[in-house]
Amino acid sequence: MRVQPLASTFTDNFFWLVTDADDALLVDPIDATVAIDAVRREAPSRVRILTTHGHPDHAGGNAEVAAALDARVLAPADAIHWPVPHDRGLRHGDSITLGASAFDVHHAPGHTDDHIVLHAPGILISGDVFFVAGAGNCRNGGDPGELYRTFHQRLAHLPDETRFHPGHDYASRNLAFCLHVEPDNGAAAALRERIADHARSDGPVLTTLGEERAYNPFHRVHDEVLQRRLRERFPEAVDHEVQDPAEQAFRALRHLRDSFQGP
Ligand SMILES: [Zn+2]
Repeated sequence: MRVQPLASTFTDNFFWLVTDADDALLVDPIDATVAIDAVRREAPSRVRILTTHGHPDHAGGNAEVAAALDARVLAPADAIHWPVPHDRGLRHGDSITLGASAFDVHHAPGHTDDHIVLHAPGILISGDVFFVAGAGNCRNGGDPGELYRTFHQRLAHLPDETRFHPGHDYASRNLAFCLHVEPDNGAAAALRERIADHARSDGPVLTTLGEERAYNPFHRVHDEVLQRRLRERFPEAVDHEVQDPAEQAFRALRHLRDSFQGP
């Protein structure tokens, strides 16, 4: 299986052309021109569109791409806020065959209620759930408690070596936030150094879940030192009504990240 990044020319999205043998899957092809050109270069015998969630910057290219390439659309079946017209509705536990390979579909709500991610051994297509050094926001139909459960219950079993493919590259700003929360996190500082010269034309920064578990605070909320630090340094962000200390830390991080100005 081959996973190629494609860059939208009019939004900050990256989207994905996944191929196996002569079978192709376009994930969130927001930029129809770029998507259609990429598929025509590969000339697969079949191409389908897959929508991870209904936000317009992910699903907005579907109609044009479907018409141009005669592609069927696979999308979340049970969306409440952001339904997407589709030929096949996807639910948790479904499987998508692609050439000789297959993806498992996981329902991964929290950024939106409908969000799905795709997993095959070593590969996760994560949409707007996992970002390098960050987490999806919960502003447009999301819920931080659901996102916490997606991170730490539904997808926590995925192995460290899993390379994930998100819908945006916010690595540099996310790392500034990681170091704002944990100034002494050496893994965050090392990644920031490694990507200092990275340009959009180089494609998105990609990491593994194992790497993320070292510096991304959203993955590290079971760390008691981090929990204590959040309570001490950012007391206004901590909701003491939330009983589970890991969920309390996750919600505090989401809240802090929403208003983070940077350096
Ligand atoms: Zn989104």
